[in-house]
Amino acid sequence: MLEEYKTKNRFKKLFGFCVIFIILIGMIISSSSILINKESTPEKLGIDKSNKLNSDPIFDIIEMTDESLLYDYLEELTVKIGPRKVGTSSCEIAGEYIFEQFENMGLETRYQEWESWTPRHKRFYRSKNVEAILPGNSKFNDEIIIVNAHYDTVPDVSGAIDDGTGTVAVMAAAYALSQYKFNRTIKFVAFSGEEYGLLGSRAYANEIYEDNPNLLVQLNLDGIGYATTALHSNNVLLASTEDAKWMVEEIKNVNKNYDIDFNIRFFKKIAPGGPRQFTSDFHDFVLHGYEAIAFGGSEDYPHWHTPEDTIDKVNFGYLANMTKLIVASLAHLADIEVYYPQIRISSPKRGRLYFEDVTLKKFNYARTVVLDDILICTYVKPGDASIENVKFYYDGKLVFTDSDAPYQWRLNKRSIKEHAVEVILYDKKGRTARDQVTFRYINLFLKK
Ligand SMILES: [Zn+2]
Repeated sequence: MLEEYKTKNRFKKLFGFCVIFIILIGMIISSSSILINKESTPEKLGIDKSNKLNSDPIFDIIEMTDESLLYDYLEELTVKIGPRKVGTSSCEIAGEYIFEQFENMGLETRYQEWESWTPRHKRFYRSKNVEAILPGNSKFNDEIIIVNAHYDTVPDVSGAIDDGTGTVAVMAAAYALSQYKFNRTIKFVAFSGEEYGLLGSRAYANEIYEDNPNLLVQLNLDGIGYATTALHSNNVLLASTEDAKWMVEEIKNVNKNYDIDFNIRFFKKIAPGGPRQFTSDFHDFVLHGYEAIAFGGSEDYPHWHTPEDTIDKVNFGYLANMTKLIVASLAHLADIEVYYPQIRISSPKRGRLYFEDVTLKKFNYARTVVLDDILICTYVKPGDASIENVKFYYDGKLVFTDSDAPYQWRLNKRSIKEHAVEVILYDKKGRTARDQVTFRYINLFLKK
């Protein structure tokens, strides 16, 4: 009995030690995991290269992107789910799958449902965009960066490159970045309806514009995983709006500083307008005056919109490197001090009917009509230098220069046609920012 008691007692002590030991180990692990926890100190992120050698978290973030994660996401979308024509149940299931993944990452996730008439197909389409938000945690948290791709496909096509690759890169970026906090808010968006006239992104860009958030830039990922030669798998092509070029330079720095080692080439300038069928989801952002950077593969893809656009065409090593560049660029841009100025035309707002400076009616999307004279108003944000002046152009001709805030100009000309007003801000360091709005302008009787 006594022996048994002693043994029991020893067993209890041993058990007690084990519990304390496990608790201690647990404490050590949890204190070290703070480094990669959501509550980790945001100051460590960003461009401070003083700690590059030891603990710059962007190196850790890059490491979290691997080929197997991208493969698993893409296999689910293109092999298990398959073709994702807008309006079909498989498109719906794909949206649900993406939603679920975002939610599992602990991100604030929602659907944006939309319905859109397409004149080209003479019918309504209905579908959902999926948005996941990683809120910023500083004075910049009202500023937003969007990274997006489209998960729909043309009919009967599994859409591995177009745009399974972009979609899984957005998901992998969300997975890595959701474990950190940044100054700015990052929105991860999977659009539907791209292949049917950029329908999902149109609804989304319109909503962003109406909510009036402070969008720094939109990163568009479409067809990013194709490279069949060593030369092509070393190249990345970027296109951007004029005012986003400084951010392209930042992306080039990220590429160099974090040893991603792509040869990044500036491919073309994105400007508002052009036919919807030859573009991608940045189209409506740019129409609304936002900045966009589009990532694309470096090699011509022969299987766009064909049944051959299958998972075996994807170069996963290339896609993983591309995703690393995207993830590191997002982490960097989400924390950087913006040193370039920004300007937006705040009146007339797009998609409205104006009469004597007052909005009479809102239209569904970017159709703007101005009756009578109107005060062209701007919203400006200086970078790291003060503002020299703002120049106002009417159909490309300089009509007014304003050197004092608030920067505005009264348009009072005779017209019945469509016109463009462009504003260009110059700062004391010679940097520029611009915005442009096109509208039908009807004014028959000039005011004196
Ligand atoms: Zn596409």
